[in-house]
Amino acid sequence: MRFYLIGHDRVNPVLQLLICLFPDEEHVRGGNDEEPFGEFVVSELRRSADGLTAAARDYRGDVREIACPAGLDSDAPAVSEYLRRALYLLLAERLDRAPEWGMLTGVKPAKLVRNMMEQGLDAAGAEKRLREAYSVSPRRSRLAVEAGVVSARYRDAMQPRDIDLYIGIPFCPAKCAYCSFVSNDVRRWGHMVEPYVAALLTEVEGMGQVLAQHGRQIRSIYIGGGTPSILSASQLERLLDAVCRHFDRRMLTEFTLEAGRPETITAEKLRIASQYGVGRISINPQTMNEAVLRGVGRLHTARDIVDCYHMARETADFQINMDLIAGLPGDDDESLTDSVRQVLALEPDNITLHCMARKRGAPLRFGATGELAAETVDHCHDMITAAGYAPYYLYRQKYIAGGLENVGFARPGTECRYNVVMMEEIGDVAALGSGGVTKLVYADGRIERITNPKYPTEYIDGPEKIRKNLSKLAKALENH
Ligand code: SF4
Repeated sequence: MRFYLIGHDRVNPVLQLLICLFPDEEHVRGGNDEEPFGEFVVSELRRSADGLTAAARDYRGDVREIACPAGLDSDAPAVSEYLRRALYLLLAERLDRAPEWGMLTGVKPAKLVRNMMEQGLDAAGAEKRLREAYSVSPRRSRLAVEAGVVSARYRDAMQPRDIDLYIGIPFCPAKCAYCSFVSNDVRRWGHMVEPYVAALLTEVEGMGQVLAQHGRQIRSIYIGGGTPSILSASQLERLLDAVCRHFDRRMLTEFTLEAGRPETITAEKLRIASQYGVGRISINPQTMNEAVLRGVGRLHTARDIVDCYHMARETADFQINMDLIAGLPGDDDESLTDSVRQVLALEPDNITLHCMARKRGAPLRFGATGELAAETVDHCHDMITAAGYAPYYLYRQKYIAGGLENVGFARPGTECRYNVVMMEEIGDVAALGSGGVTKLVYADGRIERITNPKYPTEYIDGPEKIRKNLSKLAKALENH
């Protein structure tokens, strides 16, 4: 859709809303001096003696106008909300059904809830505000508030010296067709794993020194990917040994190895992980439908998942998360609910239900977002909550199927702290490995980012960049 801005230059809120409502269309901004043409919309901010008015109109002559509160400055961030609302009211009528998340375009609905609660609303008030001011469905409002309440609890317990660690292993046994991460297929890039581990060990040592010098208390360690269990048993042991030697774990409450794909997980690796204090792992089926698994390029079977799960249970007392994805090509309601049923039968501690997201750089695409009905996902949520799990974190993605969300569910007391801290940006996270982004969260909400090289080759070949990043972090921690 062609869009024009008059009286303001806030491209992002307008564009994000258009993408959210019409993900399959291309949206192009028209020139300021251009006479609108085609199927266009105009977002306009008008100024008069009475104050500001946010307006939206389209090529059919439909108009929506919202008077902004008296005294609101035209530069105030809140103006974007009014502009978006006017546009939403104009465009939502064209859709077959109201979007579940209304006019919310952000990826972190729970963060918005937390902000509302900080401004004095209670949970019921925040839920009402989501429904009324953002047109979020009652069900999604409740979901956002549930996750918001959990994140507020974690934030309130956060101590100034706390820090959480992420260690990335960007290699996988094969690329999933829907994946846009920098995950290198070991069938082609296997020769890089060893030099990568060597570079990572150096960064672990350097990071350990920086955090110790600044008296940081490490609260959680999350080894993610990629597929961390792609490391050989001896590589995994060297990494875990380095982590245990260089990081002060006296305040550690959680140590996760996102193992991931069953064909990479062995009893030996799990024993090593357990010996070094890993208490949480993931075994991720994504679906239990064999044809769908093959279609997205997974090399394992549903049986492998079940066998791997039992092996993990027999090996150590891990908390286990299992990921599923709704909306995979070839999947349907029946097979999705069957996957949920099979995963529930295993009784993992956490279940994360993702909705398929179309990503630049991923070979696989899904068609119209309507292909995944909210009712299908709601039914899965109901199955999971009826089995004793509660939602504890959620996030949305651009181009997510059905305009829905990804939700992490946990049995009481088994929430993954790292997921909450990282997703809700409520505390500092130091990230190691290629693609790692260290985030320091300041009291005023500002976030300082320190970014490692994106690709493993750059990471392996760029020890100076890693040293520089560690010095930068050391400097930032002096005033933080
Ligand atoms: S296992 Fe995860 S990181 Fe690896 S290719 Fe599949 S989706 Fe991407």
